[in-house]
Amino acid sequence: MKSSLRKRVLVTGGAGFLGSHLCERLLAAGHDVLCVDNFYTGSKDNLLPMLGHPHFELMRHDVTFPLYVEVDEIFNLACPASPIHYQFDPVQTTKTSVHGAINMLGLAKRVKARILQASTSEVYGDPEVHPQREDYWGRVNPNGIRACYDEGKRCAETLFFDYRRQHGLEIKVARIFNTYGPRMHPNDGRVVSNFIVQALRNAPITLYGDGRQTRSFCYVDDLIEGLIRLMDSPADFAGPVNLGNPGEFTMLDLAETIREMTGSRSELIHQPLPADDPRQRQPDIRLAREQLGWEPRIRLADGLKPTIAYFTTLLQKTPPQPPRST
Ligand code: NAD
Ligand code: UDP
Repeated sequence: MKSSLRKRVLVTGGAGFLGSHLCERLLAAGHDVLCVDNFYTGSKDNLLPMLGHPHFELMRHDVTFPLYVEVDEIFNLACPASPIHYQFDPVQTTKTSVHGAINMLGLAKRVKARILQASTSEVYGDPEVHPQREDYWGRVNPNGIRACYDEGKRCAETLFFDYRRQHGLEIKVARIFNTYGPRMHPNDGRVVSNFIVQALRNAPITLYGDGRQTRSFCYVDDLIEGLIRLMDSPADFAGPVNLGNPGEFTMLDLAETIREMTGSRSELIHQPLPADDPRQRQPDIRLAREQLGWEPRIRLADGLKPTIAYFTTLLQKTPPQPPRST
């Protein structure tokens, strides 16, 4: 690639599940990638294919503290994403979203960089509108156990749009729906990793509540394509834009699909539904189709294959530990 096309791209949370895939895509496109992470939930293992690449740099840093670097673009992904991890230290979770956004927006303002925020479908809370469109303001409990994540992300969106209005920053806000794939943390309690690990061990598959709550699952490669298209979209398009796969499944459907695909002998068991667990979630992706020409291509069954293969290899390498539950 010509050096004039090579951008210096900062990925915060780059050692995490989504961040590591994003770093890999950006390197493959010929960019200089600076990955910043405090390794709270991320791991150097996720970056092994990139360590040693001449255009890849890794910096241990917590985004709640200011950062002084020179870059052209910023993808702000730093934040624990699974309920177990973000509820472990909820004050730090809010700080990561809010102080992290302030610090990264301040950096973007100083170096005149374009900046993208990894927001979430959780801004819709437990929604009364289905499927969720970007103009729906959501139904979030402001002081429940999920609020540190949901309200932190909502406040980060506020900051992004105020920096745009007040300082003319080029911002992009992606509302990411449940995404899965290789490099998910095997023990972080998210449903896809939990069910696969349980199924591969022939351990009981834990359905919270009646298992009839729904989620829409997007394969990681589709999601990364959406993030890159959003970053490259015209300056006057800031979002927020939903990125997710509209295919909607109950947790019961998911458990049965995974049990079948792994040939597992696991039984399905019910455990209490965690507080404020959304009953249903499905993205309306018309805006992403119109503005980004983007839609997911990978069906759940196709995306589960490489994900199951990833966990199969991982479990062969690691001693058994019980999957975590909330
Ligand atoms: P992840 O936990 O695998 O990655 C988050 C990364 O951020 C980790 O590497 C972690 O160490 C790092 N981090 C956390 N706090 C930090 C801090 N204070 N300073 C620096 N680094 C910090 O989660 P993920 O699934 O890759 O999610 C990435 C982003 O996408 C998050 O912002 C998350 O909210 C958002 N998102 C993800 C999903 C999903 O389904 N995966 C859905 C909606 C939104
Ligand atoms: N869930 C479940 N069993 C598990 C883990 C999760 O039934 O072992 C349910 C959980 O209650 C929720 C859904 O699966 O309704 C998705 O949970 P996850 O933590 O993956 O994501 P989020 O709730 O943040 O969408």
